Amino acid sequence: MRLHRFHGGLKLPEHKAESTAAPIRACPLPARLAVPLVQHAGDAAEACVMPGRRVRRGERIGSVGGVRGCDVHAPAAGTVIAVEPRPLAHPPGIDALHVLIEPDGSDEAVVLPPLDWQTAARGELLARVRDAGIAGLGGAGFPTAEKLAVPRETLILNGAECEPYIACDDRLLRERADQVLRGGQALRRIVGAERVLLAIEESMAEALKAAHAAVRALGDDGIEVVAVPTIYPEGGERQLIRVLTGREVPRGGLPRDIGVIVQNVATAAAVWRAVALGEPLTRRIVTVTGRGVARPGNYEVAFGTPVSHLIAQAGGYTPEAARLLLGGPMMGVALPHDDFPIGKTSNCVLVLAQDDVRDAAPEMPCIRCGECARVCPARLLPQQLLWHVRAENWERARADGIFDCIECGCCDLVCPSHIPLVQHFRYAKTELRHRDREAAEAAAAKARFQARKARLEREEAERAARMAARKAQAATPDAVAAAIERARARRQSSPQESQE
Ligand code: SF4
Ligand code: SF4
Repeated sequence: MRLHRFHGGLKLPEHKAESTAAPIRACPLPARLAVPLVQHAGDAAEACVMPGRRVRRGERIGSVGGVRGCDVHAPAAGTVIAVEPRPLAHPPGIDALHVLIEPDGSDEAVVLPPLDWQTAARGELLARVRDAGIAGLGGAGFPTAEKLAVPRETLILNGAECEPYIACDDRLLRERADQVLRGGQALRRIVGAERVLLAIEESMAEALKAAHAAVRALGDDGIEVVAVPTIYPEGGERQLIRVLTGREVPRGGLPRDIGVIVQNVATAAAVWRAVALGEPLTRRIVTVTGRGVARPGNYEVAFGTPVSHLIAQAGGYTPEAARLLLGGPMMGVALPHDDFPIGKTSNCVLVLAQDDVRDAAPEMPCIRCGECARVCPARLLPQQLLWHVRAENWERARADGIFDCIECGCCDLVCPSHIPLVQHFRYAKTELRHRDREAAEAAAAKARFQARKARLEREEAERAARMAARKAQAATPDAVAAAIERARARRQSSPQESQE
């Protein structure tokens, strides 16, 4: 298969071997789970349990009730002890409701009726993905059922785990490639895709071997395993589409515009478990790594498990531990402490040593070297965007494609002036979204006002029409004669009154 190049990108040291030597380990349940009701892109789920309620594993504890988002399910059987706001790791500084559960060790579970992906109706499969609360496990957390609602020609299963240190998809493919492929078959049926491409980076040799063996065992000629070059950020949706198909997702557009859908391999495996085993999404594989942890590895973790508990399973912190990140070194978020819970998008817990942390060198003025544009995989001009953002010229930043920035951090890494470009771009996107929300609210209020004004005018016109009709009726010759007759009758019946 002919592969294409995407613009920019960087070759980065991988640091994957540190965590891939051992098989996936099950992380034991902590004494208390704190399950966030927003673990996806979209609206938060509403709690549908109260403190004191006993829940079983897989029972729905948060519901989005038809709005954009994902339902949330109990990761373990136990008792709900509180539903309370707590800070989210991402976005930082935002609180969201969490359901606190004390597991009772019984492992009593709610299981949905298993479906056969080959015979179940497309709508039934789609409903199952929605009911199981599946969000994209690659990191973006987009509600999977929403993505699957539109038919596509090509389905790409994304195993190009390009960010350094993160290796959960690598281990998943090595150990459970059959689940990924069966999930791919179900996804293919849902979107009606003609071809399925499973993309794995060429540096993931064991995963590639396992994937080829699983395709042979499955005997499905419609799935092609493709080894793609190891370059960051190849796992980005648009970049991978470019590499595999040679096509570009239009600026401001979506993969659906060119008939393509990309699903992370762990999402595909979760779809298979939901369809074939009837399991809602309650756990995921997380890489715990870096020189700051004693025993790096990949762990299967229930949502709501505190990062501190996971670190303890990995042997605890080493004396070198200096910085804690949720996610990889390029796109992860720095955590101020380790009490945050693991959620659907938590693919990695990274503890860096001081030597691994880039020096916070003082920021210098932009020298217009163009390095940031050279490496930008979205073909943006980061220095130009920076100019607009600093000038608070928000609409120019939008027009120049700030929403196409995938926050990969390549520009930050190469900038000789140490300008934190991504930080500026995140801020600008938040500002623009805030302005868009305000504009939408103002437009809705204006529409409400105009609708009310139109209603009042209509009612007034109707009232005037009724009055005119009554007057017109009163003015007919018969009505006039009847009125004269009535007046005459009144005068005759009361002569005194009439004399006065
Ligand atoms: S890399 Fe830094 S210094 Fe060079 S043009 Fe971009 S923002 Fe300016
Ligand atoms: S962070 Fe955004 S602007 Fe910078 S290189 Fe990545 S996509 Fe381009």
